[in-house]
Amino acid sequence: MSIQFDPILLLDPYLRAPSSRWRAGPHPAAAFVVFAACALLAFAAVALFSLALAVAVTAGLVCGHFADLFFGRLYTGSELGGSAYRCNDCRAPLRPLFGIPLLGTLAARLRCPDCGSRLPLPAVVLPVGAVALFAASHFVFHATGPTLLGGFFATAFLTLTLTDLDRRLLPNRIVYPCVLLAAAFCWAWPDRSVGAILLGGGVGIAIATGLLLLSLPFGKGAFGMGDVKMIVLIGFVTGYPAVVSGLLVGTLAAGAVALVLIITRLRGTRDYIPHGPFLALGGLIGLFFI
Ligand SMILES: [Zn+2]
Repeated sequence: MSIQFDPILLLDPYLRAPSSRWRAGPHPAAAFVVFAACALLAFAAVALFSLALAVAVTAGLVCGHFADLFFGRLYTGSELGGSAYRCNDCRAPLRPLFGIPLLGTLAARLRCPDCGSRLPLPAVVLPVGAVALFAASHFVFHATGPTLLGGFFATAFLTLTLTDLDRRLLPNRIVYPCVLLAAAFCWAWPDRSVGAILLGGGVGIAIATGLLLLSLPFGKGAFGMGDVKMIVLIGFVTGYPAVVSGLLVGTLAAGAVALVLIITRLRGTRDYIPHGPFLALGGLIGLFFI
């Protein structure tokens, strides 16, 4: 028998304990202490190069980590409160190991140590994606306030992509608060006026209503209410005229991908192809490039 030494497991002596949600380990708060230490460490390391980038990366870590932990509650109808858990299947208390962004999940070999369920894709995509998007936001906006705002909405678009791919849902629990936040911070963008943002929201509402009406002959579900609300969100985040160009790029990308999927026979002409990821792409382009 070989003795394995895995330094990361020292942080969680309970990882290989017998499965039981009642004996699952320390209080979930320990995971947040571990996370705070990791975030501080990341901040210090990046601050050696650039303080502003360190702020962006750390905010990305926080945003991605919490979006990841709450991901299951964002669209499954689970209660939003209560103690933290990693796995939506057994909801065992969050282990300290999962306080380490990404590496904790990788160390657990993408499985829940309590029930053995496979951890969902967002457990990897959200932490990495959020840090990358906040860093991108830093290089686009430079100033700290707009960087954080841009990173936050970009992460919201990524989260919506993942919920749409997983359950074909663009949940109100994400979209409504984000629309309110985007409207409330309409003054905070360096390159967009308050008028441009509010006009963008109005144009978003008009485009969404138009598309909804146009889709009615194709039957219920051809264009969902989730898509409508997401277009409004993109309008309030990117403003006018970016909302128009962003949505155009998203629609073209959706058309191109649908065409490829149909030509390669991976999907039929009647199969459902989610709109959310393409709207999110359009939103990201409108936010960062237009
Ligand atoms: Zn589990």
